[in-house]
Amino acid sequence: MRDSFGRTIDYLRISVTDRCNFRCVYCMPEEGADVAPKEWILRYEEIATIVKVAAELGVRKVRLTGGEPLVRKDIVQLVRMIAQTPGITEVSMTTNGFLLARYAHELKEAGLTRINISLDTLNPERFVRIARRGSLQQVLEGIEAARQVGLSPIKLNMVVMRGFNDDEVADFARLTLRHPYHVRFIELMPINWNDGSDSGEFLQQRFWNRIFAHTEESTFQLIQAQHASHSMLSAEEMRRLFVPVHEIRQRIEQEVSPLEPAEVITNGPARTFRLPGAQGTVGFISQVTHDFCANCNRLRLTADGFLRPCLMADGEVDLRAPLREGKGEEEIRRLFLHTVAHKPERHYLAEGIVPVGRGMSQLGG
Ligand code: SAM
Ligand code: SF4
Repeated sequence: MRDSFGRTIDYLRISVTDRCNFRCVYCMPEEGADVAPKEWILRYEEIATIVKVAAELGVRKVRLTGGEPLVRKDIVQLVRMIAQTPGITEVSMTTNGFLLARYAHELKEAGLTRINISLDTLNPERFVRIARRGSLQQVLEGIEAARQVGLSPIKLNMVVMRGFNDDEVADFARLTLRHPYHVRFIELMPINWNDGSDSGEFLQQRFWNRIFAHTEESTFQLIQAQHASHSMLSAEEMRRLFVPVHEIRQRIEQEVSPLEPAEVITNGPARTFRLPGAQGTVGFISQVTHDFCANCNRLRLTADGFLRPCLMADGEVDLRAPLREGKGEEEIRRLFLHTVAHKPERHYLAEGIVPVGRGMSQLGG
C-alpha cells in the first residue's frame, strides 16, 4: 500500500488490550483507569481476519502491544495465528516485561521474532514510583528469559523524565558495553496531555475537516476526549518532565564517551549509535523534537477495533462494526485503503494539534 505522500505502508501495530498490570505515571492514572467494556475488544478471530486482509494489501510486519499484551488471555495463540498468516514475515511485541519470564519460551516457539521491553529505571524504589505496580526484579528476570530463549535483538525502551530518571541515562548506555541490547531513549510524548480544556478537540476537528475538505465520504471518527484523571500527571507537569533527545545524548557523551554512528536495520524511527567497543547500541526516539513522519510506514489498530493512520491525530476508522455486521473481507479491504489514503502527511504538534482522544495505553505507543 502506498499513501498519498508516496510512503509504503507495510507495518501494523496492534493493541491487543487496553488493560495493564502497571500504571506508569505518563500513561495511565493510578486508580480508575478507563478501560473499554470486554465486548468491545476484538476477538482473536477478528484480529486474524484483519491481519489476513492487511497482509494481502502488503503489510509484512506486525507488532503486538497494548496496554500490556501479556495480560491478554491466550496471547501465545494470537502470536501463532499471526505468524502463520501468509505474507507476514515478522511478529514482534512491546511489553513491560513483568510476565515475560513466564511466556518467553512459548512466545518464541509460537513464532515471535523480536521483543521490545520497556524499562525506565534500574533502581527498585524508583521503579515503583514510575510504574506504580510490579517489581524491577521480575522485569529483569523477563529480560534474561527473553535473552535465553533467543528473542533477539532485545530492545530496551526508556522514557526519559526530568527529575525521575534522567540521571540514569549514562547507566542505561553503559548496559550496552557488556550486553548486546539496543537501548532506546524516548522523549515523553504529548499523548492525552489533557488539561480539561476542549481546545484540543476543537483543533483536531478542524484538522480532520481540512483533510476531508475535498472528499465526499469520510468514515473517520474523531474519538471523544477523556478528561484526565487527577491521579495522572497533568499536562503542565508532563511539560516540565520533558527532556529533549539532544540533551540525553549530550549527557551520555559527557558521562561515558562520544558515540559513533551505527546501522541497525530494524530500529524504525530511532537514530542509532554505539559506544566504542560496545556489544549493543543506543538509539534516540525523538518524535517530538524531530519528526520521522516522512518515513512513517505504519498503521495502528486499537484494541476496540479502530484503524488509526497516525498516532498523533485522533481520526480513526471503525473496523469492528463492519466485521460484526458480517460485511466481510472486501469491506475491510476498502476501509484499509481509505485509511491509508487519508494518512496525514506529518504530525502537527508544533501547531498545537495534540491527540486528546485516547491515552497511550489505548494506542499502544
Ligand atoms: N505495556 C507495554 C509497555 O509498556 O511496553 C506496551 C504498551 S506501552 C503504551 C508502549 C510504549 O509506550 C512503552 O515503551 C511506554 O514506555 C511508551 N509510552 C507510554 N506513554 C508514553 C508517553 N506519554 N510518551 C512516550 N512514551 C510513552
Ligand atoms: Fe502499562 Fe505500558 Fe502504559 Fe506502563 S506504558 S501503564 S506498562 S501500557
